Amino acid sequence: MNPTVKKRIDLQVLQQQLKVHPGSKANFLTREDSSRDLLGKFHKDRSVWIWARRRVLQCLSYQFPCALQLKQWGILNDVKCRLCEKYYKEKNILDPPDTVESVGHIQCYCPVLQLPRIAIHHGIWRELMFSIRKSSTELNDDSEPRWLFPSALSPEAHAEWGLYKILEYMGLHEILPPGAGQNRAKLRKDIEEYHTAYAIDFDDSDIDTFIARRPDGLAFDKEKKLCVFLEYTRAMDTNEDWAEKKEQEKKNRYSSHLGFINHLSHREKSGWKASQTNFTTGVRGSLNTNQFLTRLESLGVKNKNTREAIRNRTVHKTLSMLDMILKFFFIASNFKTDWTLQNLPGPTEIVNKNMERFNLHLQPPRL
Ligand SMILES: [Zn+2]
Repeated sequence: MNPTVKKRIDLQVLQQQLKVHPGSKANFLTREDSSRDLLGKFHKDRSVWIWARRRVLQCLSYQFPCALQLKQWGILNDVKCRLCEKYYKEKNILDPPDTVESVGHIQCYCPVLQLPRIAIHHGIWRELMFSIRKSSTELNDDSEPRWLFPSALSPEAHAEWGLYKILEYMGLHEILPPGAGQNRAKLRKDIEEYHTAYAIDFDDSDIDTFIARRPDGLAFDKEKKLCVFLEYTRAMDTNEDWAEKKEQEKKNRYSSHLGFINHLSHREKSGWKASQTNFTTGVRGSLNTNQFLTRLESLGVKNKNTREAIRNRTVHKTLSMLDMILKFFFIASNFKTDWTLQNLPGPTEIVNKNMERFNLHLQPPRL
């Protein structure tokens, strides 16, 4: 039989088989609207190192040799995270937390890998934010770009755009020179007033946390007076409802802030409305296709092909980062943990794809 025809038949049989298999692998692969179309693309991408592709495949098929899996295969007796244990021993901390070494733990929870995890979160988000800002071409009635993304310009801009600056932009708060503390005191009173009015549990010590919290990104439509908090999350995608859960968590995180801004805007009759848009990717490349594309469009990314390209890049990046965390896990398990963490690449390096020197996910150059 012609090899291409044989391949096609095999593929169709496999797809039929997936539907009748009850296991978690089949469940994961057949989940609809989750960008599964891009998994194959990643696997075929020759710019990605073959070992990285294989490790991603191991994670997708629940075959990655973490302690949980090794115990199931009868190779290890214990499911405890070996890295946690090693780290706490190095630090002479007795009674380390009891953690299970699963792919989810390594990717999302292992306390030792918190720094690389943060770097990766920033890396994926900054690339996504940059693409949105660059591709948001919708114009307003004055033929100017409809959406502005002031915090996306640089890490410094991001640090600057906290609650004070957001309110100032909408004309709901005035930033006075340092030393003019009265104005800040007024904002604190407003925050208190809002929480009391809506009977939200709150005490004095919460005010600083409330003021200090800032979303991952911001979008403003000055003409229609819209302020959108943008949030990015990378989460483990084992359970079917992982994305809804994350969406709810993110909504809860900022509901008081949005409520406060809308309350202030209503009181001052300013006409501004604040809302939130979340972007969520699953560790193993899950991404709700329709929701993601609709949200890009709502931020002015009008070109369909561009939206599709951003979806492609985001999933590709997420899968590359899955492998990067595995690498860090391996390095930290085999060398001194502190040394590994000190040699972390910064978010900028991850964004710039300047990762060859770490040999983490790109193919080494051919000599
Ligand atoms: Zn751990």
